[in-house]
Amino acid sequence: MAKYDQLKNTLNKRLGELEKSMESDEEFETTELSNIDNHPADNATDLTDKHTRLALRKHYKEELEDIHIALKAIDGGTYGVCSECSAEIPYERLEAVPTATTCVEHAPQAVDESIRPVEESLLNATTDQPVDNEDSRIRDYENSFDDLEEVGSSDTPSDKQ
Ligand SMILES: [Zn+2]
Repeated sequence: MAKYDQLKNTLNKRLGELEKSMESDEEFETTELSNIDNHPADNATDLTDKHTRLALRKHYKEELEDIHIALKAIDGGTYGVCSECSAEIPYERLEAVPTATTCVEHAPQAVDESIRPVEESLLNATTDQPVDNEDSRIRDYENSFDDLEEVGSSDTPSDKQ
């Protein structure tokens, strides 16, 4: 299955990024919660922000699960086949959505997706975050992730902070 090596790399990279993002997110939220009452004027922003973060974290978790499933499928040799109709999923689609388990036709509708369709979030994962302008921490994630990439996988994220 060397055919999917590239995608496997992408998935593993994304996996590390997500895990790091979720860690940072939990730390941040603990601090943030205690401050909400102190800034009544910012309440609307805080709430929106909080909502965004919660939605984002839910999204991360779901994506993590999807990635684990995809990696398992690659190792098991069952990757790249639609779970609905058993058709081979076009490589282009897998490139855009490495966690896809269905062909385009059988893709589940992302009605519960409050951030962006999964396809888009993966495509723009590190370059075009939708909440970029109101949540600068996203940029922090990227910078941290860049640091991580530079040192490879030998250091834990906390070593870089
Ligand atoms: Zn299908």
